[in-house]
Amino acid sequence: SESRFTEPTLDDLRAALVRVDATDYGAHSPRFISRFTDMTRQAVTYRAGRVLLAGDAAHVHAPLGGQGLNLGVQDSVNLGWKLARVVLGTSPDALLDTYHAERHPVAARVMHNTMAQRALGATDDRTSALRSVMSDLLAFDEPRTHMAAMISGLDIHYATGRTADDDHPMIGRRVPDLDLVTSDGPSRIYEHLHRAEPLLLDLDPGSDLDTSRWRERVRHIDATCTGTWELPVLGEVPAPSALLIRPDGHVAWAGSRTDTGLHVALRTWFDA
Ligand SMILES: Cc1cc2nc3c(=O)[nH]c(=O)nc-3n(C[C@H](O)[C@H](O)[C@H](O)COP(=O)(O)OP(=O)(O)OC[C@H]3O[C@@H](n4cnc5c(N)ncnc54)[C@H](O)[C@@H]3O)c2cc1C
Repeated sequence: SESRFTEPTLDDLRAALVRVDATDYGAHSPRFISRFTDMTRQAVTYRAGRVLLAGDAAHVHAPLGGQGLNLGVQDSVNLGWKLARVVLGTSPDALLDTYHAERHPVAARVMHNTMAQRALGATDDRTSALRSVMSDLLAFDEPRTHMAAMISGLDIHYATGRTADDDHPMIGRRVPDLDLVTSDGPSRIYEHLHRAEPLLLDLDPGSDLDTSRWRERVRHIDATCTGTWELPVLGEVPAPSALLIRPDGHVAWAGSRTDTGLHVALRTWFDA
């Protein structure tokens, strides 16, 4: 049957192929067949008490741009460490509400751009003209970088927990994977994130950041880093003197030779 409301069969697939391409290409022995549409929907809230939604349970959209899986995995990475800390009692329950606050707008934006891509796929003359105007615009570096960073999710920055004192552009963004030298020798930032623990990276040999109260909860590493701090879309940003990195690799706080805002960030993210 060709109804959208029944399980699709191999005959449905063959009939569709014949309709579009005048041949079924000899299709046989399918591993599985399923239907998908450009349905675009998002759960109003990702958290209701002890019920949390992530991945396609929280949002569905047309698969254009191949963004759904990435979005769902990043939901889970954002939620996983928060859930673990709240269950272990090392962060307050309110931490779980930042999951919706941070991830709901990200999926809303993906749905927005997949709807736009879907609209651009129409074949009438006016849409063909619009597609060609878009192609012309995407020949320029700035719009192309903007679109690529959006579709790859590399431009994501979270605004939660930010205070008026926190103005470093890295706050809320994913930390880049730069080379470090610690007392154990050379390493890269991401190696220190494998344990999925909060990390305070002190990059100023002369500094004396007092994190004694959080010693049990936040790993503190002294290191030097001579690399260039380059972020997707933004380009080079001022080198921070210290960074507080969340277990999901996003920056909770960045210092510029002062600890202003550090204790607020530590309390916000990692206090019980
Ligand atoms: C044609 C197509 C192409 C795509 N291409 C891309 C791409 O290139 N890149 C990309 O990033 N994304 C792509 N996506 C999107 C991506 O496949 C989804 O976003 C992703 O698989 C969602 O993962 P999920 O774990 O949230 O949900 P699912 O993969 O749907 O997993 C949910 C699982 O739960 C099981 N389940 C459901 N109900 C129950 C129940 N009651 N009890 C037990 N188990 C249950 C289901 O059987 C399923 O295995 C594409 C999607 C489509 C349709």
